[in-house]
Amino acid sequence: MTKSAPRRILVTSALPYINGVKHLGNLAGSMLPADVYSRFQRLRGHDVLYICATDEHGTPAELAAQAANVPVRQYVDEQHEIQKKAGEDFLLSYDHFGRSCSDENAALTQHFAHVLEANGLIEERTMRQVYSVDDERFLPDRYVEGTCPHCEFEKARGDQCDNCGRLLDPVDLIDPYSAVSGSKNVEVRETRHLFLLQSQMQDRIRDWIEAATDWPPLARSIALKWLDEGLRDRAITRDLSWGVPVTNPDGSIREGFETKVFYVWFDAPIEYIAATEEWAKAKGEPEAWRRWWRTDEGAEEVDYVQFMGKDNVAFHTVGFPVTILGSQEPWKLVDRLKAFNWVTWYGGKFSTSNKRGVFMDQALDLLPADYWRWYLTANAPEGSDAAFTWEGFQSAVNSDLANVLGNFVNRITKYCASKFDGKVPEGGKAGEAESWMIAELETRLPQLVQHYENMDFRKAAAETRAIWAAGNEYLTKAEPWVKYKNDVDAAAVGVRAGLNLAALFGIIAQPIIPEAAAMILDALGVPEERRTLSEEAFADIPALLDALPRGHEISPPDVLFRKIEDEQVAEWTERFGGES
Ligand SMILES: [Zn+2]
Repeated sequence: MTKSAPRRILVTSALPYINGVKHLGNLAGSMLPADVYSRFQRLRGHDVLYICATDEHGTPAELAAQAANVPVRQYVDEQHEIQKKAGEDFLLSYDHFGRSCSDENAALTQHFAHVLEANGLIEERTMRQVYSVDDERFLPDRYVEGTCPHCEFEKARGDQCDNCGRLLDPVDLIDPYSAVSGSKNVEVRETRHLFLLQSQMQDRIRDWIEAATDWPPLARSIALKWLDEGLRDRAITRDLSWGVPVTNPDGSIREGFETKVFYVWFDAPIEYIAATEEWAKAKGEPEAWRRWWRTDEGAEEVDYVQFMGKDNVAFHTVGFPVTILGSQEPWKLVDRLKAFNWVTWYGGKFSTSNKRGVFMDQALDLLPADYWRWYLTANAPEGSDAAFTWEGFQSAVNSDLANVLGNFVNRITKYCASKFDGKVPEGGKAGEAESWMIAELETRLPQLVQHYENMDFRKAAAETRAIWAAGNEYLTKAEPWVKYKNDVDAAAVGVRAGLNLAALFGIIAQPIIPEAAAMILDALGVPEERRTLSEEAFADIPALLDALPRGHEISPPDVLFRKIEDEQVAEWTERFGGES
């Protein structure tokens, strides 16, 4: 088999909003699969750059800072650190976790606005907006509250009614009042905003999406649905002070926009590029980002994959591509989008106030990251929404991790320690049981690789588990513990193959459960250069059962996974909610 050249793969996951630690559903629908995919591709030997960042602008950040009574800058600084730590604790292997409030993002956002306007895709328009006389300001989106015109809910926000879920225009609210001061002294006045003329890009975007036949179906169907409804021109500025200032090409503030900034949905996706600039600067190669993003400087060869929840698909298939394509500059466009449905909490919503659901920081107080990573990957919300249940979580951990994987590794390493001096045994010849195992691996390992390449995470986890299970079946067939009594050489074959299988199980587990995988591989003394999923590593599958040098010393690992007890399930159900 010839060695294929490494690919360059750019991975981004939807930017988590700055406001608060994310729950397990947010993690499972963007950052975690992006991490698993990045780890897999690195193990294949490819050059991967995984970029994420906090999305820090917009009204919710301003309002939350106001509620906490701290300046918004201080608020986002603190929240960024909290989210960065939560991601690291979950073993998310970002190459860079940036911030959309960076200078790089401001400069790039202003640049795009200037070129889009020069290309006739941005124009200033007058619109009617709620103005608070007492606050002396226009009130964007959530700064206005009032009664919903559809369902008469009295605390509807200007942009959406939390009761009936309808999207609203703030000027349609009945009895509107300012969310800043509570003042009812508000009126509708005219003001000017910048509009992105998405309608003019309709055909261009459709051609691009229709050509993207290898996108997973969920992302593609959502994108086409938006196009069928027709793209509408959209205001890309807001009356706020926290955000990217609206400038002229010479850097001065645009007249009439002194108290306005770009809308968060305009600048947030641009942060994918800006965060790559932040990454390049941080590593002391300030131009290194260009080969990932400029198709005239090397990015033509990059495979760019985006991960996101289904609510974000429209912004990534329509909003951001309008910016990129409309600029007529050689920027890299996404090649494949992987979208996810929701993880629900027993079929309902996660909710802090109703004590329903676990958040990223709470999860790690209960159990190590690998336990959650396994369950959320094995139950990824791919074909439909997926419910988190404590019972399902317990069963996945106890059965897949503790029984199928953990017991296998402990049993074979301990047996080797007690009967073969802790050394990979010599002697004996492979027979029928080994041939059976090799045939299993010859079918299953290529399937595993294919599932990852297709970004089918449920299938990848299921195949990983099936390989572990086949190993258990192999030991039942080989039964070295029985053979040992009469034929030490026959037992040696089984122990040797078993130890090599344990190493292989650790190697294939790395994308999903990196910490436990490292414990297994350390215990077996598998050298760093063998911890790979490259084509060469899988080229000679029979050799995998005899890869550890004979006589090589191993040591049984500590307990890899602790089972979840029924009492723990009861306690956690009490604390975080469960079947109601
Ligand atoms: Zn309503």
